Amino acid sequence: MSTAAASPAARLASVRARIAAAAAQAGRATESITLIGVSKLQTAAAVAALADIGQRDFGENYLQEAIDKIEALRDRALTWHFIGQLQTNKTRPVAENFDWVHTVDRLKIATRLSEQRPFHAPPLSVCVQVKLGDEATKGGVSPAELPALLDAIAMLPRLQLRGLMALPPPESTALRQRHWFAELRRLLEEARQRHPTLDTLSMGMSNDLEAAILEGATQIRIGTALFGERLQSMA
Ligand SMILES: *Cc1c(COP(=O)(O)O)cnc(C)c1O
Repeated sequence: MSTAAASPAARLASVRARIAAAAAQAGRATESITLIGVSKLQTAAAVAALADIGQRDFGENYLQEAIDKIEALRDRALTWHFIGQLQTNKTRPVAENFDWVHTVDRLKIATRLSEQRPFHAPPLSVCVQVKLGDEATKGGVSPAELPALLDAIAMLPRLQLRGLMALPPPESTALRQRHWFAELRRLLEEARQRHPTLDTLSMGMSNDLEAAILEGATQIRIGTALFGERLQSMA
């Protein structure tokens, strides 16, 4: 298949062209959208190949695999985003190694991340993951519980509360995709009345980045469109 044979440069150019087209359609500046390369189940060499041609932000889901890559690529000063499900007993390596966490969905996790963030590092940027729709995701706080969680996280000294993240159920039409992204955008607008510095909507993946950008995404998380198919395992 041509996509499997495509070079990292061709895939990066193609994703950037999709972002530019969607931004133009939305009347937004392309620079207002950060492309996060989701490198789960991809090798450090694959990340390095994209870093060589200008990709700076990468997202990881699985902790051990992530730490190995972050250490291997330490001298490149990349920006690392944790986007996986976070367990209470695994917060320390996340607080120590990542720049962003997108999947905070309860206060206990946030409190630990704040306590464990090293003092020599800047505050950890965090997004709260919201559960959109009943069966939507395993993680995420309900919209009803969101305001109280945001108020509590905003008090934590070593975190910088940045915005909201969602992983809506896969939809086959752009209209249905936009429905979920519009809902997250509405929740951010509501939250900004109490927390005006919130500036981040983390939403959109390989199959629905256009819909996400049309609804205001500021960070899109792109795996397969950027790297090709994922390996079955890193072992
Ligand atoms: C894997 C993953 C992505 C990327 O998905 P693709 O469909 O490969 O672009 C984005 N966000 C999260 C939270 C993921 O787990």
